[in-house]
Amino acid sequence: MRKINTRNFRLATRSTPRDVNRRIVLNLIREYQPISRAELARRMSVRRGTLTPLVRELVDSGVVFEKGTATTARGRRPTMLCVRTRGRLVVAVDVRSGRSSIALSDVGGRMLARETFDTPASPNQLADLLASEVTRLLRLHAPNGAEGCQGIGIVLPGMVDRKTGRLIYAPRLGWRDVDLRASVSARLGLKVFIESAPIACALARLWLEPEATRSVNSFAYVSVSGGIGVGLVVNGEMLRGETHTAGEFGHVSLDSSGPECVCGQRGCWEALACNAATVERYADALNGVTGSPDLALHRARVAAFPGIEDVIRRARGGEDAAVRTLVETGSHIGRGLALLVSAFNPGRIYVGGEITEAWDIVEAPMRSALMAGTIPGSAGATQVVPDSSLAEYRLLGAVALVTAPSYAALAVG
Ligand SMILES: [Zn+2]
Repeated sequence: MRKINTRNFRLATRSTPRDVNRRIVLNLIREYQPISRAELARRMSVRRGTLTPLVRELVDSGVVFEKGTATTARGRRPTMLCVRTRGRLVVAVDVRSGRSSIALSDVGGRMLARETFDTPASPNQLADLLASEVTRLLRLHAPNGAEGCQGIGIVLPGMVDRKTGRLIYAPRLGWRDVDLRASVSARLGLKVFIESAPIACALARLWLEPEATRSVNSFAYVSVSGGIGVGLVVNGEMLRGETHTAGEFGHVSLDSSGPECVCGQRGCWEALACNAATVERYADALNGVTGSPDLALHRARVAAFPGIEDVIRRARGGEDAAVRTLVETGSHIGRGLALLVSAFNPGRIYVGGEITEAWDIVEAPMRSALMAGTIPGSAGATQVVPDSSLAEYRLLGAVALVTAPSYAALAVG
């Protein structure tokens, strides 16, 4: 089983040296494109002759193409190498409780089509729905149909066993021990990759921001949406744990008398800081109550309430209750980040999710809760940054599941 690692080729244990070298070349072309053969050889510290057959193989297979655009000081125009994205497509699926998304992207992460749908109640219904949706999307937008499709990436709000591809448990969906990968793949005959959303999002950052992620040894990705999930990259390696449940910080209780969580505990980080928690607190603030004793009634009232996007919009309009709610969410997010910093001391924490749209409001309270929750000095050097691809951060995670393994090799230079 090759681990996901875009840097350390020694961990790509099952690959032949030729495979590894081809991946190194591909990685460098993607990162520095357009790049000449001479520059590529310089970055790899090899002679051009060593490179020639590897580049030829990539060009022949259609993964890389040549274009003559650069002009050198002496006026010669060397052929430049670029990674081919056109016609090479990926289907990305972001499964959430409530509404899910499906998108067609090129292998560079550019979204070509995107739709949302009501998340079906059971994994089998989801597999059926994906079978028809994927076929339809490819027929509409892919010139070569399924032929150009490199695979389907599916991100889920739950723990996934990397080896078997089984979804172990998704609390918000109520799904346990499901082989979604096999059922989708059997219906479509395409390669399917499945992963927990925050792990996929962390992988997407490694893939899309090689410079930034290489500048830190370890980083964390915190996905704040329907729930809270954490992906951890330690020394360039995705941390999974013995039974694939590492990073389950969302269900660490921060307040034993806090709101009830889907997992049955009280005051989990997720129950305090996820989107629904924010909306719920906002509804309470407006209604002047702090949680109705009639839970069903309370939930119905909150469900009828606008989503977090509306809370943010109202805060932007200067509504005091909305601003206070978001400030409190920032503070709750920061309390959980303190756990991450205490446990892993990451160089950077990415935060992804709708809440990042209100970054200017949540950042300061988040930072102060983070500082307050850690030993003095330990969090000072940890950057906390919003994921730059707000609207599609989880879909990009799904794309990365399909594309990043081709780049899983040491990037030298
Ligand atoms: Zn919980």
